[in-house]
Amino acid sequence: MSDENACWFCSPGERTDPPAGGWLYDDGTWRVGHAPASYAIAGTTILEAVRHVLDERDMTPAELAGLGPITGRTVAAVAAATGCDRVYRWATMDAHPHFHLWLVPWWRSASTRGPRYLVDAIVTGDGSTPVEAAAAAARIGLLLER
Ligand SMILES: [Zn+2]
Repeated sequence: MSDENACWFCSPGERTDPPAGGWLYDDGTWRVGHAPASYAIAGTTILEAVRHVLDERDMTPAELAGLGPITGRTVAAVAAATGCDRVYRWATMDAHPHFHLWLVPWWRSASTRGPRYLVDAIVTGDGSTPVEAAAAAARIGLLLER
């Protein structure tokens, strides 16, 4: 039986590439980190439940109450920090049973859109550089502190 807490993003013993810039927000129920540079384009931010919970079906009332507001704050921070036109979402919980909501900036100038863009941005693309990821993380972190 696998350890459900051995999560690629949030477990120090499991991940090889920590969130760029560290955790940008943490209220004890929800936390936000920038995706590791090698995983996604700069500005891609992951919102996760601190508790290892799969999805809304298993969330506590406090987790459910917090999800909308922190999603809204993170969408606003990603948009302001990157100047993107849309903030795409991606959440499959494929590898681990832990709610990770990816927020991915999209610009009208992009050559693709929709699911194809998401795949390019976080699966088949080259990701970003550590410098780009750190700069985006710092901007998003400042906006989330407000
Ligand atoms: Zn996790």
